[in-house]
Amino acid sequence: MKIKNNFIVRNFFVFHPTKNEEECKICRNSFKGSYTTNMKRHLLQHHEAAYLSEMEKNKVNEPAEKKRKFEITMSRREMKEVLEKIVTNVPAETLESAPFKALSEQIFAGLEMKPEDFLNAQES
Ligand SMILES: [Zn+2]
Repeated sequence: MKIKNNFIVRNFFVFHPTKNEEECKICRNSFKGSYTTNMKRHLLQHHEAAYLSEMEKNKVNEPAEKKRKFEITMSRREMKEVLEKIVTNVPAETLESAPFKALSEQIFAGLEMKPEDFLNAQES
């Protein structure tokens, strides 16, 4: 998170290595060295709206990138019953669809089962 913030802050400046200066792209003011704390302070004091909107834009993309753990609390038997009802009632193409697989794959793996196991059980 901190690295990402710094990246956003640095995007507002152009670094001139020969002068060892950071130049603000908005007001063309220059600052000695390359310190994100100084740069951030400058942005907050002089270009707060631009800085905050840039922060906001980058925040939107975060949840999609981050993997989260979802927990379902039910017994093994309850889970099997629910899955059996789904598997035996939805069309085969739904079971084969990427979204269904994405959702159910890890649950089936946890049960050490495959969707077909329910279908096979029904036929016999
Ligand atoms: Zn500036």
